[in-house]
Amino acid sequence: MEKVIIVGSGPSGLLLAHYLLRRGNRYQVEIYERLGDPRLAAPSNTRSFPISLSTRGKNALRKIDGLLEAVEAKGAKMQSSILHQPKGKQSLLSFKTPLIAIDRIRLTNALLSELIEKYDSSQFNIHFDCQCTQVDLKARQVKFQKQDSAEEFAVDCDLLIGADGARSAVRNSFLNAGRFELEQKYFRDDYKSLYLPKDKNETELQPDCIHVWVSNSDSRIIAVPQPDGSWSGTIIFERDSDEILGLTTVDRAREFFDRNFPEASKLMPNEEIEALLERPIASVLTIRCNRYHYEDWVLIMGDAAHGVSPSLGQGCNAALEDAAILDALLDEYEDNLAEALPEFTARRLADARALWELSDNAFPSSKLLFMEFLLRRAVAKTMNKFFPQWFPLLPSDLLRDTTIPYAEVLKLNRGWVSKVKKANGVLNV
Ligand SMILES: Cc1cc2nc3c(=O)[nH]c(=O)nc-3n(C[C@H](O)[C@H](O)[C@H](O)COP(=O)(O)OP(=O)(O)OC[C@H]3O[C@@H](n4cnc5c(N)ncnc54)[C@H](O)[C@@H]3O)c2cc1C
Repeated sequence: MEKVIIVGSGPSGLLLAHYLLRRGNRYQVEIYERLGDPRLAAPSNTRSFPISLSTRGKNALRKIDGLLEAVEAKGAKMQSSILHQPKGKQSLLSFKTPLIAIDRIRLTNALLSELIEKYDSSQFNIHFDCQCTQVDLKARQVKFQKQDSAEEFAVDCDLLIGADGARSAVRNSFLNAGRFELEQKYFRDDYKSLYLPKDKNETELQPDCIHVWVSNSDSRIIAVPQPDGSWSGTIIFERDSDEILGLTTVDRAREFFDRNFPEASKLMPNEEIEALLERPIASVLTIRCNRYHYEDWVLIMGDAAHGVSPSLGQGCNAALEDAAILDALLDEYEDNLAEALPEFTARRLADARALWELSDNAFPSSKLLFMEFLLRRAVAKTMNKFFPQWFPLLPSDLLRDTTIPYAEVLKLNRGWVSKVKKANGVLNV
């Protein structure tokens, strides 16, 4: 059996473990995760956020027996989204294909529980509280530090997967390996996780729907229902926003929510506001690099390879698709890693670059251009059936309903994306 080390138990690492273990007795998989066991933590005590899984992510899950169903059972099917505007006006957007909305921690718990149920310790193990600190590319050795005791240890393997997110330690080892280019950029907005308990008064919030509240102060709340009737969400705001940084007491925060998000504020008890003030502000680091593999034994995937802004809700979908793509390459090259790993870079690079471009420039910041966006979307929806080559669907619609490669989606929408990029660039100066 070949020994595989996966660093990181996020969605991409866990799904890849399923794919590798499904290949019979060929691979023995060990996952090392920096944090503790997520199954022992209440979702509201962790920094999690809701993730929407569209056709691409669902397809990658569906290829493993029972996995899509296990994830669906922990999430909720979303048929539409409602945009709540500051003056109370609501706009409904119905989806052709329903999304699965699921809190990140519930998603990883579902993937992990299925692994533990299916495979015994001779095939699969997971080690929590173990942080990868260094990869010695020449010695083919991975170094870890135990979080509780600071004890250090090294492990050898045949295949190392860096599924350790945007701040990947595995990817950092490539920096000394020559001709590796890396671009890191913070997304302009930061966020905090938000939890709304089950609404005892049964307000009129539609349950099978993603709710987005926008304020006049450039912040927004996104909330999705959980199977237990509670709501999981995020408040997203401009980095270093004085207004958000100034929320130091429950009274100030209550006043802020009443003023900007009156409907959501009604669903927030004081305990949640207190917990929200304690939660750290998180930022999103986006990643672009020119190679995902090192020789025949290291591969980075998911956010470690191509972290993007969450605007289009595609980061996790792309991360799950990575696992399915590697599996297909292992089939194609009969598990020959020396061929499959370079081919992963070759096949994925253009799509990952297109995803970065699309995620940054799919939605215009200017109000005028946003009106054009709504108009274009409506026209494309009607005319696309008759003249698909002249009226392509906009990226947000194509990405939700299809698995068309990201590079193709960008090609179809090149004119619009360039226009948004130019306009957003001017506004961001
Ligand atoms: C607010 C927000 C909303 C989002 N919404 C969506 C959405 O709607 N749809 C969508 O598709 N995507 C969404 N995303 C993006 C999505 O969350 C990520 O793309 C996805 O989680 C990437 O999965 P991953 O497994 O590659 O990395 P991660 O989820 O980042 O997991 C990496 C894991 O590695 C561990 N780790 C890190 N460093 C080390 C180390 N040195 N040693 C050991 N372990 C380590 C981490 O603890 C973590 O468990 C959103 C992101 C944010 C921030």
